Amino acid sequence: MTPILPANDTDAIWLLFCTILVIFMQAGFCCLESGLVRNKNSINVALKNIADFTVTLTFFWAVGFGLMFGTSQYGWWGSSDFFFDGDTPTSLLFLFQAAFCGAAATIVSGAVAERMRFLGYLATTLLIAAIIYPVFGHWAWYPGTTPQMGWLRSLGFIDSAGATVVHSVGGWVALATVLILGPRRGFYHPHHNEFQGNNLPLSTLGVLILWIGWLGFNGGSLYRFDERVPQVLINTLLAGACGGISALIFSAFKAKTADVKLILNGILTGLVASTAACVMIQAAEAALLGLAAGPLSVVCAKFFKDRQIDDVVGALTVHLGGGILGTLSVALLADSRFFLPGINRIEQLGIQVFGILVCFLWAFGVSMVSLRLLNRIYPLRVDITQEDQGLNISEHQYSGALLELIHSLEDSQAKGTPVDPHQFENDTEFQQIIFQYNRLHDHLDQEMIREKQYAQLSILDGLTGLYNRRFFDMIFGLEWARMGSRAAPLSLMMIDVDRFKIFNDTYGHQAGDKALSNLADILKGVVERSGDFIARYGGEEFCILLPDTTLEKAQHLADKIQLQVQAEPIPFEHGSPVGYLTLSIGIAARIPSREDTQEDLIEEADKALYTAKHQGRNQVVASGL
Ligand code: GH3
Ligand code: MG
Ligand code: MG
Repeated sequence: MTPILPANDTDAIWLLFCTILVIFMQAGFCCLESGLVRNKNSINVALKNIADFTVTLTFFWAVGFGLMFGTSQYGWWGSSDFFFDGDTPTSLLFLFQAAFCGAAATIVSGAVAERMRFLGYLATTLLIAAIIYPVFGHWAWYPGTTPQMGWLRSLGFIDSAGATVVHSVGGWVALATVLILGPRRGFYHPHHNEFQGNNLPLSTLGVLILWIGWLGFNGGSLYRFDERVPQVLINTLLAGACGGISALIFSAFKAKTADVKLILNGILTGLVASTAACVMIQAAEAALLGLAAGPLSVVCAKFFKDRQIDDVVGALTVHLGGGILGTLSVALLADSRFFLPGINRIEQLGIQVFGILVCFLWAFGVSMVSLRLLNRIYPLRVDITQEDQGLNISEHQYSGALLELIHSLEDSQAKGTPVDPHQFENDTEFQQIIFQYNRLHDHLDQEMIREKQYAQLSILDGLTGLYNRRFFDMIFGLEWARMGSRAAPLSLMMIDVDRFKIFNDTYGHQAGDKALSNLADILKGVVERSGDFIARYGGEEFCILLPDTTLEKAQHLADKIQLQVQAEPIPFEHGSPVGYLTLSIGIAARIPSREDTQEDLIEEADKALYTAKHQGRNQVVASGL
């Protein structure tokens, strides 16, 4: 089977070159995923893509490589070469495999994007790099003879470049994590369009980079630079191309549009599907695989979406769907000379299905159990506010000019002031937005002031600034009901200026106006309690509504008004005081009940006022006292 170490210098150089191509795939993943998420999460996704590689390399070096390629313990795990520091041919294997492990681990980041906490994600990476990937890799790839051979490999399981070992492992862990996290907020809103990626050209570049990297991924898996290499490279290119074409046709047929994400994922699914059998098939079979992979990716995406499994970039579709298809394709399409002696195609299919199941149990099972446990101690999902805010800010405190703009606008709304445009760089689009915003802000401000003025005009008396009678009647109705429900006393004071006609006739109407306006100011000054309500009832008549006030207290207030008015020398004529105004006041008080109405209270206060006039004016009469 596949020799695991390069045999000569040419092999070694080829393997090194392929290693670099596979590492370059990290750039592809980074572009693809950060372009497919919303703007507010792009930096977080990009950073996850590079941070997971740091974790992968470190832990694969410390633990993973030893478990995967150290001396085998009965085909189950390796037990040497931890903290790897080996000889040259093994170092080449280490480098190539570390790059592979990086690919397996980074698959998860796209699926869990936009809602997973950064450290939780790195813990998942650690789990893959240190345990899940190397152990399964040992089972499927460790060479030698039984009992040292990887146990799955010894059964005849074939996966040349890692459709299951790399892609499905990443896919199963991604599925477990996505199930634990749940879908993003608002993703399945019935009237919501699907969230749009912020930079699809970047994603497209990512797929191109991945495609190039795949030549190393599949081509290097021969560990040889021999006559098979060109065929493997042709197969890889063709599977991607046919995956893209078939997804394009399928999507155009179904959705009547060339959906970018579906086409990109069609290409990638084709590439993943090619990985298991790439060294054992011819161009026609590779094309066939790609043609199957495209529609599969469209169907898979719908399958996951219908089950509310939120796979942000389509990683499950590509790596799990494509991985399973690729693994099965070994039995269906590969030359049977590659099978273990005596095994026919049907039996090989059974072995491949068994390998897929083992991978599911191991990768999905281990990640599900350990991440669930971790989730209890350290919740893997960001909270709602952070998710709405976006992970660029909540996880990395990245505040760009756009964020500053949002904050300034929020601040302006809270304070009701315009935004200072000089906070932003001159002549930028942000400053233009602020200018436009401020213009709108001023316009609305003016409108509001005008509206406030209109509103006041309709309830205020123009001469005195007191409330008018219409508004008084409304407030009276409300207070009547309110006091009635609490069984509290409501007092009403009716005030009439004495002999005002004579005053007017003597000093003129204008002086009379001034006197009424002065009187209103006096009333406002004496009646201090905020719940009391003064209105101009008509002509030279005023009334004061006093909730929660007994007759005695109302009378006390009326006496104070009398004193104050008598002390005020109005009106003025040529600057010198010429006389005093006097008032007659009638008061009535009631605890509102069903038996009487607010008109009864007015009538009673009016009667008291009438009595005050009859008794000689300039006095207070309280009804019932
Ligand atoms: P009494 O003591 O019986 O209340 O005598 P009075 O003269 O005050 O009563 P009357 O109701 O006969 O006259 C009220 C006067 O108030 C008539 C009117 O010229 C004057 N008046 C009413 N509204 C205004 C106003 O807005 N400005 C001025 N300057 N005078 C007003
Ligand atoms: Mg009057
Ligand atoms: Mg009067």
